[in-house]
Amino acid sequence: MFFHQLEGLYIDKKVSFTDLKQVLLTFARELFGSETQIRLRPSYFPFTEPSAEMDISCHICGGEGCGFCKHTGWVEILGCGMVDPNVLEACGIDSNTYSGYAFGLGIERITNLKYHVADLRLFSENDVRFLQEFESAY
Ligand SMILES: [Zn+2]
Repeated sequence: MFFHQLEGLYIDKKVSFTDLKQVLLTFARELFGSETQIRLRPSYFPFTEPSAEMDISCHICGGEGCGFCKHTGWVEILGCGMVDPNVLEACGIDSNTYSGYAFGLGIERITNLKYHVADLRLFSENDVRFLQEFESAY
């Protein structure tokens, strides 16, 4: 079993939740198309406060509802939040001056959402035929 995670962290002066939301919206639209919508649901993670789970509008049905999105029009993609000020202070960063956001998402999860890979074992079998199903964008 394996698990790959992509993590993002940004710390600066005057970083707000709006900045986080805009970055994630841009990311979602670059990956899944310009019509993609996002929604954030309150959640809990140890090092962010507030924290949220992010869903994207289902790119299969455009949010109408289908089997892929369990007829909700949304699919979960990542977790995110504002870095807890206590974490900044523990790192010697003045939390009155600096703030930041963080997010994390599974690479296999994104790949599945984008390409609908039927069986996760295909990721680890080193079968070149599987890789050749996907064209490189570069
Ligand atoms: Zn759908």
